[in-house]
Formats: sequence, C-alpha cells, structure tokens
Amino acid sequence: MTNHTPQLWRFHGGLHLAPNKAQSTHAPIASMPLPTRLIIPLQQHIGTSAEVGVEIGAHVLKGQVIGRAVGYVSAPIHAPSSGTVVEIAERPIPHPSGMSATCIVIDTDGRDEWTPVQACPDYQSLDPSALRNRIREAGIVGLGGAGFPAFIKLNPASAHGVDTLILNGAECEPYIACDDMLMRERADAIVRGAQIMRHALLAKRCLIGIEDNKPEAFAALAQAIRQCSDTGIEIVPVPTIYPAGGEKQLIKVLTGKEVPSGGLPLEIGVICHNVATAVAVDAALNQGRPLLSRVVTVAGAGVRTPCNLDVLVGTPVSAVIAACGGYTDDAKRLIMGGPMMGFTLDNDAVPIVKTSNCILVAAAAEAPDPPPALPCIRCGACAEVCPALLLPQQLYWHSRAKEFDKVQDYRLFDCIECGCCAYVCPSHIPLVQYYRYAKTEIWAQERDKRKADLARQRHEFRLQRQQRDKAERDARMQQKKAALNSGGNQDARQKAAIQAALQRVKEKQLGAANAPEARPDRSKDEEHPTGPVDPSQSR
Ligand code: SF4
Ligand code: SF4
Repeated sequence: MTNHTPQLWRFHGGLHLAPNKAQSTHAPIASMPLPTRLIIPLQQHIGTSAEVGVEIGAHVLKGQVIGRAVGYVSAPIHAPSSGTVVEIAERPIPHPSGMSATCIVIDTDGRDEWTPVQACPDYQSLDPSALRNRIREAGIVGLGGAGFPAFIKLNPASAHGVDTLILNGAECEPYIACDDMLMRERADAIVRGAQIMRHALLAKRCLIGIEDNKPEAFAALAQAIRQCSDTGIEIVPVPTIYPAGGEKQLIKVLTGKEVPSGGLPLEIGVICHNVATAVAVDAALNQGRPLLSRVVTVAGAGVRTPCNLDVLVGTPVSAVIAACGGYTDDAKRLIMGGPMMGFTLDNDAVPIVKTSNCILVAAAAEAPDPPPALPCIRCGACAEVCPALLLPQQLYWHSRAKEFDKVQDYRLFDCIECGCCAYVCPSHIPLVQYYRYAKTEIWAQERDKRKADLARQRHEFRLQRQQRDKAERDARMQQKKAALNSGGNQDARQKAAIQAALQRVKEKQLGAANAPEARPDRSKDEEHPTGPVDPSQSR
C-alpha cells in the first residue's frame, strides 16, 4: 500500500444527501435463520436467463447447480441450501414492473448439506481463462446492483489491456450500508478477491475507492492491504457526494478519465467491480463456494431492528423482515434498493436475489408521496446536478412525446437513473420514470425489429431455397428430357438400320427370284468341266 495522497478529480453535478446509514451499522453482520422455503428466480443477472436444471421432487444439496447458464452472457444458479424442489413456476420477482418469472421453489430440509466442492487456493497456477471459468461456474454476478456476469468483466480480451482494476466501495446511496459492513468485517476477503481479479485481468494496479464517511471500512482495508504486502493495491478515500459510487463517476474521480458515451470502461483501460463481488470471487476460489448468499441492509423506520443480514438468495422478503423483528406501525412503503435508485415492491413475497443490496421499509416521512407534477419551467436545475452531463429536461420532453430517436440523440442511454434531476426539480416531475419508460420502449422496439429482421431473413432464405430447389428440379428435368431425346434418336437409328437391312434382304430375295435360270448351267459345266472327265459317266 502506498502512502502518498493520490490526485482526485471531480465529476459534474451530484448531491449532498443525508446518509441515514447509522441505523443499520450499530451491530455486526448477522446471519439469518435458515428459511423453510426458498424461491429462486432463474434470471438474476443481465443477459440470458438460466434454464431449469432440476425436476420437481428432486432432492438437492447446497451449492448444486439447479439452473444452467445459457449462452455467453448468462450465469448458473445454485441451490442455496439442501432440500426438495417442490415447484417450478412463474412467481413474482423483484422488478420495477412487478413482473413474474420462472422460479425454482425449494423446501429446505434444515440440514444445509453441501454438495462436494473444490477449492483452488493456488489461483496463480491457473491461467486467466481457467480462472474466469471458475468464477463463471460459481454464478458470480456484479453485486453492486447491475448483475452483469462477473467473469465477462474479468476478460481483458481487447487490444486496450487493463491498466487499473477499481473496486467500488463508495456505496453512496442513503440507508445502504452492506458494503460498508463488508469492508469493516471481511476486508481480508476483499483484498484476496482483488488479487485474484488482478491476476485474471493482468491489471497493473488496483484502486479501492471508498467514500470518506466510512473511516472504519478504510482502516480495516488499510490493515488488510498492509498484511498481504501487495504493493499493487491502493485504497483511496473519495469525497462523499452522491452518486460517487456510479461506475463512470468513480472512474472519473480516481483516474480523471471519462468513459466514452455508449462505451465501456475497458476502452480506457479500466475495469470496475464492487467490493462484494470481490468477496464472492475469494469464496469461489479459496473455498470452492458458489454465490449463494449476500449481505443485505434492512433499514427504515418501518422495520423494528434495522441491521445488515447475510441472506440466502431466494429468501422471501417477508422472512427477512421477520428476522429483523417485523414491521413497525410506521411502515408505509417497501423499497428494494435505496430511496434514490430503488423501486417499490408491491408485496413482501418476492425473494432476495443476487443484486438485492437493501430492503428499505420506509415510513411516510422517509418516502413521502410526491406532490402532483407541474409543467416544466425550464429552470435548468436538473442539468446542473446531472452527473452524466445530460440535459434532463430535453430527455423528459422527448420521452414524453415518444420521440425515441431524438431522446437517443440526447444520450438517453448514458443516464444512470441516479434520480438527482428529479430530486431537485421544482415541478416535481418524476423524470426518471420517463427515462425508464423511454428505455423500455426503445428496447422493446429493438427487440421487435430484431424479431422482424429475423423473420424477414428466414422468409428470404425460404424463398431462396424454394427458388434453388425449383431451379435444381428444372435442371434435372431438362437432363432427363435430353437423355430421353438422345435415347429416342438412337432407337430410330437402330430401327432405320434394321429396316435397311431387312430391305436389303428382301431386295436380294426378290432379285434372286427374278433371275432367268436359277438352276446351275450344266452346259457350261460340260463345256468347261472342272476336272478330268470320267468315261464311265458318259452316256
Ligand atoms: S428541473 Fe424540472 S422544471 Fe426545471 S428544467 Fe428540469 S425538468 Fe424542467
Ligand atoms: S437520472 Fe439521468 S438525467 Fe437525471 S441526473 Fe441522473 S443521470 Fe442525469
């Protein structure tokens, strides 16, 4: 660890928000009692959903694969505990739209019995590709909220190469403290995970960015780095300003580099992972354990005992709330995530998934109903706070008018949905809802277009094949005809030859019949005997 004060940069805009984190950080991370039922969605990551890998009635062991990854951008799903698969069906999942998706339901048997696992503490003996496969097989996805399969972001397969691995410990959203607690309590695992990731990426250095309002986490990590004597890992305190934990914003603050619009951090030689993802990578390699649980902050005045809990994936939110003493009378709104970027849950039957970092049980004062939206007054306050340097009011106008081409011209997809613009809007316009709507519509249109393109390609291919088949059939027909024709000529020639031969025979016969004397000309014989005359034959 280096001791110099690193240079920092600033990102545009942002907000100073009340952190409200202390209510859950008063106690260490607690483990939840084993739930009796686990509801495990097959889609807990960005990319293609996993496919069912078990049957109803099967007994499964903890860590056993129950959902197989499909394609490249996908992640397998493992049984979080041992038990019996009792259902495979559509169930509500945590999603802003309240949608349902295929889930595998396991009734746990209370034994929490592991399937055999294989650790690989000597990760340096693995080449980076084998290392990434291990991480893939462990079902690790980005635990900071995005849920992108982690192994993909550990592949430096580009001409750019990776200069800097950044571990994101900024955790800037109010109430959420799970990463803070992880850094305080599992700093060693984070540093080991960082070393493994660096090996996979062949990254020159690793920077761990932590907001400067987390002194305990900073101290614990600094100690862990000192103990491992890895001079390639550096811990950097960053100013506490929301959203410092946004990937592009943290990269800017730590390196001064801007991720290009629509581009990836890899293009500027940087890869960013969450500190919780590093802990999962450490468990995958050093213990052979797949990703089965995560730390979740339970906070808000609507829950009796706010805390940070180690929760098995698939645990119903209702069981999590029960483990925190249940709801208070003030509970008004259930939010998955924080107050800025989270979304309201319709009910608490949905499960915790790999990307669930917080359950906020908000009282009325913590999540007041927004006043009615008023017309935009073009004050520009939204643009002043936008950390992505966008023009939020233009995005709003064009999203509202369903002008999806124009809204993309204003870089809609660079919006990180941080909510800063809506937070300051004096007209109380729910701006982020418009952006989410526009993104969803554009994705749907692109999906439809892809489907239409595919259908058109298939149609054209079928037409081409039909034309080719017809052309081949015609060609074969022509060949047959030609063969038949050439065969007919031959017959005719043979017939003519036979006819001619018969004719010659006939003419010969006729010629013979019409000759003056058919008998031998004896006179001539007598006149011109061919041999000596026998006197005894003379009369
Ligand atoms: S802050 Fe609200 S009112 Fe002001 S320009 Fe932006 S959208 Fe319009
Ligand atoms: S939600 Fe999007 S437009 Fe609004 S401030 Fe954040 S990045 Fe900018």
